[in-house]
Amino acid sequence: MTTRSQRYDAVVARREEVSPHLVRLMLSVPGFTSTGVPDEWVGLVVPRQFQVRYYTVRSHDGDQVVLDVVIHAEGLVTEWASGDSVGDAVVLTAAQGSYSPPAGAEWLMLAGDLTALPAMARIAGSASLPTRIWAEVPDDLSDYLPAGADVTWLTPPAEGQSRLAEVVRGIDWPEGGGYFWMAGESSQMRAIRKHLMRERGLPKAAYDVMGYWRAVTARQQRAVDPGAIWQAGKASGKSDEEIWAAYDEARGV
Ligand SMILES: Cc1cc2nc3c(=O)[nH]c(=O)nc-3n(C[C@H](O)[C@H](O)[C@H](O)COP(=O)(O)OP(=O)(O)OC[C@H]3O[C@@H](n4cnc5c(N)ncnc54)[C@H](O)[C@@H]3O)c2cc1C
Repeated sequence: MTTRSQRYDAVVARREEVSPHLVRLMLSVPGFTSTGVPDEWVGLVVPRQFQVRYYTVRSHDGDQVVLDVVIHAEGLVTEWASGDSVGDAVVLTAAQGSYSPPAGAEWLMLAGDLTALPAMARIAGSASLPTRIWAEVPDDLSDYLPAGADVTWLTPPAEGQSRLAEVVRGIDWPEGGGYFWMAGESSQMRAIRKHLMRERGLPKAAYDVMGYWRAVTARQQRAVDPGAIWQAGKASGKSDEEIWAAYDEARGV
């Protein structure tokens, strides 16, 4: 049974560059259980780190799980995934998903930036409803989405920036009831949630809008969660001093 607290030990089996800003990692994850929800994601803990970052399961086949990782200016997983990670041991948390169109939906609209592209591809590949997609990506990824998808490709205004909220505010909505799914930079998502609630008056069941990352001007501090170090240290029989030394080392103190 899969529980939210379940963790999988995994190994990077292959690494491919899909485009200048997107790296595909094929992981061997013994025992992996999919939720079957097409935007399902896992938590990823990379070597020598304790913080979790979240990635969509782009595809899976038995114990093989594919994650497509965005390479942006700087970041904990970005730095690791930029290098040769093949053979590295990582930890994944159990998959969870939130895609849930209401019964009787007549259409789907998907909008997102590069971090949302893996989920949009999987959703579009599994949906039987007429689907429109707005994808804001910095690279030419015209082959990434399933053939025949009705896609509007957008270019971000600058590295690490997005104007998805403005684009979505200008969309002509189809007639009838449907489902709107969107993910990307958090402030853009907040703006769209307000728009959907106040201006479009959509019922909550008709949309899911998720902040996948947060634009902050300064580099994020590498705050390290001591909980995981403590548990791992105790499990391997370390003394308290050894555990806190490991904690200091992890924080670079
Ligand atoms: C449910 C869910 C599913 C997701 N699926 C994917 C996925 O399939 N592929 C994927 O690549 N990401 C995905 N993300 C987003 C990913 O978790 C974040 O982008 C994460 O912050 C990247 O971690 P990092 O260690 O590289 O950077 P961090 O150490 O978290 O951040 C470092 C700096 O980079 C900035 N930053 C973070 N992300 C981005 C970005 N995407 N573009 C520009 N600047 C950024 C931050 O503001 C910060 O200043 C998903 C997030 C969620 C919640």
